[in-house]
Amino acid sequence: MPVLVASDLDRTLIYSAAALALTMPDARAPRLLCVEVHESKPLSYMTETSAALLTELGDAAVFVPTTTRTRKQYQRINLPGPEPTYAICANGGHLLVDGVTDLDWHAQVTARLAEECAPLDEVREYLMETADPVWVRKHRVAEDLFAYLVVERELLPEDWVKELAVWAENRGWTVSLQGRKIYAVPKPLTKSAAMREVARRTGASLTLAAGDSLLDADLLLAADKGWRPGHGELADEGWTAPAISALPERGVLAGERILREFLRTTAQGATA
Ligand SMILES: [Mg+2]
Repeated sequence: MPVLVASDLDRTLIYSAAALALTMPDARAPRLLCVEVHESKPLSYMTETSAALLTELGDAAVFVPTTTRTRKQYQRINLPGPEPTYAICANGGHLLVDGVTDLDWHAQVTARLAEECAPLDEVREYLMETADPVWVRKHRVAEDLFAYLVVERELLPEDWVKELAVWAENRGWTVSLQGRKIYAVPKPLTKSAAMREVARRTGASLTLAAGDSLLDADLLLAADKGWRPGHGELADEGWTAPAISALPERGVLAGERILREFLRTTAQGATA
């Protein structure tokens, strides 16, 4: 029975230049591989060592990229290793099977959203009315499922984010602040539900997960074993749980450590 590895991508396995957090002398910095180009410019990186580890992992386990990105944003990432059979996009709203969305899964998810939380339009309206153009750069809707803002972090009032979180909570939505993006996501739209579905389909005997943000908390809790890096929303809150390891590494080197942990635990799971 296979081991399933469901990992967040951004700031967990892949890193923008701003998120690399390289602290060693330049001459000792790891060599980086660009894994995403956007509008003809390099956008996301992993270390060359991580690239080799991920290739190894792709052969040893069912590796499932698990991201809040839209399908389009996911599909421009060029990960090393074998093409994953399954990928989770839009925070669980789309389950890709061999690169194609599973329509039954998507219908199941949208039915749950219609029943269990306030509609997207209400959240969009609130964001349009209350977010100040002084610090908002973009209003975005992702896959007709959730909304996010691109903001100037230095100008963003902390109180506004707190008020939004309370307002959203009362409507069955959750808020996550990651870098320059503020996400408003329906609570029933989860990475964990999609991971469980892949575990069911593959008959996985062991599930492993990693992630850095609040939107990864349910994924980490749903897995048999999880890791979070030393940076990000979860680290900032000191978030942890019994089956979760809080790693000390920050930035792109945390990605390398997470891949080592995945491989080590996969090997143990295979002999258990
Ligand atoms: Mg992330």
